[in-house]
Amino acid sequence: MTRLAAADRVAATVRADIRALNAYPVPPALAGGIKLDAMECPYELPESVRDEIARAVRDTALNRYPAGDTQALAHDVRHAFDIPAESSLLFGNGSDELIHLIVQACCEPGDIVLSPWPSFVYFDMAARFDHARFVGVPLTADLQCDLPAMLQAIDQHRPKVIFLALPNNPTGGLWPDEAVRAIIDAAPGLVVLDEAYQPFADHTWMSRLPALPQAVILRTVSKIGLAGLRFGYLAGHADWIAQFDKVRPPYNLNVLTQAALRAVLRHKAVLDGQAAQLCVDRALLAAALADLPGVTVYPSAGNFVLARFSGELDGNAVHLALKTRKILVKNFSSAHPLLANCLRISIGTPAENTALLSTLQDILCSY
Ligand SMILES: *Cc1c(COP(=O)(O)O)cnc(C)c1O
Repeated sequence: MTRLAAADRVAATVRADIRALNAYPVPPALAGGIKLDAMECPYELPESVRDEIARAVRDTALNRYPAGDTQALAHDVRHAFDIPAESSLLFGNGSDELIHLIVQACCEPGDIVLSPWPSFVYFDMAARFDHARFVGVPLTADLQCDLPAMLQAIDQHRPKVIFLALPNNPTGGLWPDEAVRAIIDAAPGLVVLDEAYQPFADHTWMSRLPALPQAVILRTVSKIGLAGLRFGYLAGHADWIAQFDKVRPPYNLNVLTQAALRAVLRHKAVLDGQAAQLCVDRALLAAALADLPGVTVYPSAGNFVLARFSGELDGNAVHLALKTRKILVKNFSSAHPLLANCLRISIGTPAENTALLSTLQDILCSY
């Protein structure tokens, strides 16, 4: 029997398209630095809430699999996030998992998943992993949804699934209701309204969901201070949810996540307060960034802003200069032509935002 080296065996066994991919880049922790690259909430929970989480976790049985019925959790989530009584819920280990479940359940190999582009990279990745074909419809030059192009692409490709990030990541724009409505009306399959940044947008489709049988709404708690918990939820008609539930890995939601989430949701006002603060600080940061030489800031309804650097230093150089000074932001300079020289900056604490601004001022004005 021939013994192949692991590399040969891998080459002969693992899908060629997977071997050609790069893994999703997650940067290492930045000791002592300022982390503004991943839309995390910069605030920790108050001591009293953390004590309550500790008690809830202590009382959780780790020897048992998570219970099959999630009634209690569903009750709390419905209440905390205003889910219409008519809509059903599905929970995921982060909303990333739910994106997979949707594509797995809907797409035969080669079926089309479509989204305005650039948008959330995981729409594209999940589609590929699950053997669908991803079509990204370019945004306009000013990074808005190109509705005529979307309608044309829907007509041409007949997508099984359309993802709309509302607001859009990484650009921050919130597509107008009329455009979203037109896309929903034109869609031959399912439209997923990904409201990951809804808490910062003062806008939602949730109350209208019962009247939209061809749409579901995806949400996450990652951007409101609970990124480490890994919890996302999908709301929609029971007929959709029942199908997606079939491809859900059993026990995908661990007992510690459930216990901690229920404890935190008793203090939802704390999360709301943090989100409100971040919105105030977003306006201040956006205005101050726009005052810097050669910087264009795009309007954002998320907890981040996208800035384009067109002065002496290009986006890569600014990103590197910030990194050298221990400030981490996300570099999109080479990700897509529409994002040339763009950096995405998460909103931090007021002190972090001030440090970012003064550091940028130094960097840009020393050239
Ligand atoms: C961050 C993000 C998510 C992923 O959230 P998780 O729940 O942490 O997996 C989903 N959609 C968009 C548009 C995002 O930006």
